[in-house]
Amino acid sequence: MEVWLFRLLVVAAAALFARQMLARYRLLARAPGGFDASDLGTRIATFLSEIVFQTRTIRARPVVGIAHLLVFWGFCAFAGYTTVEALRGLGIVDLTGTAAFHAYELALVPFAIGVLGGIVLLAIRRGILRPRALGAYVSKESLLISAFIAILMITFLVDAADAHAGRAMAGVPLERVNWWAHMLVILTFTVLIPDSKHLHLLLSPATVFLRAPILGTVPKLDFEKEQTGLETVGQLEKKQVLDAFTCVECGRCQENCPAFATGKVLNPKKLILQNEEALLAGKLELPLKDLYDDPALWQCTTCGACQNECPVGVEHLPLIVNARRGLVSNGEAPAQLVPVYNHLERRGNIWGLLSEQRQKFLASAGVEIFDPAKHEYVVWLGCAGAFEADFQKSLRALFDILRAKQVRFGVLAKEKCNGDVAKRTGNEYLFQELATSNVEELNAAGVKKVITSCPHCLKTLGHDYKEFGFEAEVQHSAVFVEELTRGVTPIPGVPSQGTVTYHDPCYLGRYAKTVDEPRALLARTGATVAEPERTKENPFCCGAGGGLLFEEHEAGRRISDARYEQLAATGADTVVMACPFCSIMLKGAQASADKASADRSSADDAGAGTPGATPRGPGATPMVMTDLMSYVADRLPGVRDRGPAS
Ligand code: SF4
Ligand code: SF4
Repeated sequence: MEVWLFRLLVVAAAALFARQMLARYRLLARAPGGFDASDLGTRIATFLSEIVFQTRTIRARPVVGIAHLLVFWGFCAFAGYTTVEALRGLGIVDLTGTAAFHAYELALVPFAIGVLGGIVLLAIRRGILRPRALGAYVSKESLLISAFIAILMITFLVDAADAHAGRAMAGVPLERVNWWAHMLVILTFTVLIPDSKHLHLLLSPATVFLRAPILGTVPKLDFEKEQTGLETVGQLEKKQVLDAFTCVECGRCQENCPAFATGKVLNPKKLILQNEEALLAGKLELPLKDLYDDPALWQCTTCGACQNECPVGVEHLPLIVNARRGLVSNGEAPAQLVPVYNHLERRGNIWGLLSEQRQKFLASAGVEIFDPAKHEYVVWLGCAGAFEADFQKSLRALFDILRAKQVRFGVLAKEKCNGDVAKRTGNEYLFQELATSNVEELNAAGVKKVITSCPHCLKTLGHDYKEFGFEAEVQHSAVFVEELTRGVTPIPGVPSQGTVTYHDPCYLGRYAKTVDEPRALLARTGATVAEPERTKENPFCCGAGGGLLFEEHEAGRRISDARYEQLAATGADTVVMACPFCSIMLKGAQASADKASADRSSADDAGAGTPGATPRGPGATPMVMTDLMSYVADRLPGVRDRGPAS
């Protein structure tokens, strides 16, 4: 009788589970695109690190991460136990009396205690502490699942203790009650999983394995196949559908998003949950622009924080860029990008300036045109290097360092914008035009090694251009100069300008994982580095990426103002930057902060209000804003030994 009842319940639970999973499988099967499993070695290493050892979860939130690790390992360890007990309940085979099972049961005890401890901690966090990232709503389902897991562990521990005592505690009735409680919870759990965030238990190994090994990988569109980007829910690709079903709603993406943090409508977590809801509701014809809050898609700086922090391999960047492509292909790019696209089309640079200005800079800097017979490296200028006076100071410093170290380098006679703005804002046609032209130029010149001081050029030339046939060693100047100046000590007597703070550009710190080299260079100059909030591989964006450099009326608070405040809060005297766009944004933020401070002072003088405080305090000396190459060139011997440039 008991056996038949259990069989009936197993069939019912399996049918309900299969029905829900089938609905999701159908959506996945009909989605366009495929899964990319290239670079297998990296994917396996990532799988071991992030699934087996949960490193990404632990790195972001150590206590929660370890609690989660205990629960995960417990689940794996209990898989065999559940199977043996189910086989017994179904009347197929009873292995519970074997010596091997008894040994296994004993080995499970520490796992059960670990899971119990972990789940209590997670439940307290979710139900009582309620961190902001989880949202205001406390999911009853997730508290119920926590209770289920606790019951599973308690019933196991009671049964193990009873078995160890030779069933002396209460004999057969206790054993049966325990067994039924345990198995009923397992069956209920099976039914609840597909429609809950706990589906990530089954899907996250796949989403983590399938995540592109390089952050920000957005494959080019194939125009011959009439690809134009994402327009409707039904066009979401297979990985995006899988991502939507895997999201665990932890809020890490939202917590780390600079747009969300500064009060914009963009919330990366919401985008993924909106995808899930629309897919399950069968709204396949719904345009994405009607699904997402307007103008969320245009508020993304492509900083990559969301995707980089997601513990289950969800990829927000390809979703956002591809959805932008869909809008641009229908002529729905925001107004501020239209002149930028025109400048890129007509003049090959984001500001629409004449190439003569680039020639003037090169002549004044005394740089030769690259000749593979004479030179080993090309220094790629980028739009900022070719036309922006401030960043040209940084390039002059780089040239001085390279000359001091007898590096044989030149520049290309012609260079167009690398196309970063076009690519990240979804103007794929324009990007491909620029990329094709630049790759032709680079390959025709015989370039094999590139140095650039722009992290966006680094990403595009070093990664995106591979799809266009450019295979060269591309390095950021911070990495190149760090290696070049190893063992060098600072010029004696040159003031270090007190404490320095370093702002990691997203495309250098997060995308390229270049965080040690800039700091090693600063240490080599004798500087003391004060780290800001959000640093190294998880910096807070300056607000310029993804085309937002051209956004004049930013909703909410300006991202650059928020970052400037974090940098000023370190109390450092100097801010060192390693990206032309970070430099433009943060210098702008400094000017706004100074103006606001001056306005507050005059209002105070006029008796019109309470004195405010600048981030560094009233009357403080303004922070020096400089770039890494200038800072280094002024302080290392043999480069500019006359001391700091005025
Ligand atoms: S890439 Fe950055 S700005 Fe864009 S959604 Fe992700 S965290 Fe937010
Ligand atoms: S997308 Fe990833 S980081 Fe964001 S809520 Fe979902 S699981 Fe968490």
